[in-house]
Amino acid sequence: MDTELLWKTVLGEIELSVSKGNFVTWFKNTRLVSVNDQAVVIGVPNVFIQNQLEKRFKEMLVEIIQKNGVSDPKISFQNLPVSQTRKDDEVVVLTHTANAPSAKPQTVDGITHSYRAGINTRYTFDNFVVGGSNELAYAACQGVATNPGSKYNPLFLYGGVGIGKTHLIQAVGNEIIKNNPNAQVVYISTEQFVQEFLDAIRYKKNTDFAGYYRGADVLIVDDIQFIAGKEKTQEEFFHTFNALHQANKQIIMSSDRHPGDIPTLSERLQSRFGWGMAIDMYAPDFETRCAIISQKSSASGFDFSAELVEYLAGVIKNNIRELEGIINQIVAFCEMREIEPSVEMAKALFGKLGGRPRHFSPKRVIDVVANRYSVSVEDILSPKRDKDIVFPRHIAMFILRDELHLSFPKIAVALGRKDHTTAIHSVEKIARELSLDPRLKSEVEEIRGLL
Ligand code: ADP
Ligand code: MG
Repeated sequence: MDTELLWKTVLGEIELSVSKGNFVTWFKNTRLVSVNDQAVVIGVPNVFIQNQLEKRFKEMLVEIIQKNGVSDPKISFQNLPVSQTRKDDEVVVLTHTANAPSAKPQTVDGITHSYRAGINTRYTFDNFVVGGSNELAYAACQGVATNPGSKYNPLFLYGGVGIGKTHLIQAVGNEIIKNNPNAQVVYISTEQFVQEFLDAIRYKKNTDFAGYYRGADVLIVDDIQFIAGKEKTQEEFFHTFNALHQANKQIIMSSDRHPGDIPTLSERLQSRFGWGMAIDMYAPDFETRCAIISQKSSASGFDFSAELVEYLAGVIKNNIRELEGIINQIVAFCEMREIEPSVEMAKALFGKLGGRPRHFSPKRVIDVVANRYSVSVEDILSPKRDKDIVFPRHIAMFILRDELHLSFPKIAVALGRKDHTTAIHSVEKIARELSLDPRLKSEVEEIRGLL
């Protein structure tokens, strides 16, 4: 048995079944030492990775290895120096195919495709934490999952990096398969779609390619912004879109921005992308971040204290993928030293991230913001609705929420508003714009620095 190939295939499948953070942390530096009959020896760089693999992933490993030809595998681990486990170029290849429908090399014959491919069963509605920043998207996705092809078609989710777009659109796929095991659900990253299309032209397999995608009941295309500038692919996608839409097949897309903001997207695609429902998602608020951290830490077998959860939620604000990475590192660190996770430890690990004392008052925030935008504090607190006053007012609300975690009624009071729903809308609006506009992001960072 070719152990290297076997491991590559196994890792490829694992990569599709666990989150990127988990994959990188626990599997990246493993290799297959030997396979003798049923005895499978996996090389790991250290004992805490071994512990995690045993505790959390053994069942999955057994299942996948079995699927790849070793009947009833008996897994054991062996510690190897990193130089013997790290295979950087392999990792690069695997990372490239992160969302690939199959770990095996793609051929365009269509035959190697399976409709179930590409869907990662770990992304479900159940393990998705719902909060203000994503509840609309969540509800729409659930609507589509119960009634594919009828309600919102296409469903278009957009927003910044690491906020759960892929998770949600995959969850729709999983739910539809659960309700109807015969549904042909295709998930593909746009990069892969482009690549396959180019290959199809090159190998004159255009009809196979077209047939494959047009045969789907549900087509999920991730990160569609990457279709920008790819005219031929856009044209192909246009036809696929029409064929599916006319047949009432569900189309789901994600993007880092609104269809109208994707440069060089042909007008006809732009208009089609807006036919159904376009929903923006943005970075989760403090409470949602806390809920996500609690959920993910208990999933790794640790219950973080409320204090630690809040500390981490205060440190990482925009990107849940980053949060996952940090949780994994804390878990690894604690396993290795057999200690309980704590704020002190997290601070020592990530001191440079947190640390900023939060001793300033709401008044200070309003002063700094007013100063930054050259408006007077009186104007910000006044009922005036001029654009150049309203904007800093919103920014101040956002920072009061994000830095000081003030409640919305308190934010309203601090800014002389009567109605706290204005504060909710303003904070949400800024959060949304932040995830789309790097310039605004650096402005807000600048203000934070001045506080
Ligand atoms: P995006 O596609 O928007 O860049 P992902 O869907 O890949 O982001 O999310 C990044 C990681 O964070 C994934 O592992 C995902 O499972 C996790 N995640 C994001 N949002 C949530 C949520 N609300 N609840 C639980 N996990 C989440
Ligand atoms: Mg994504």
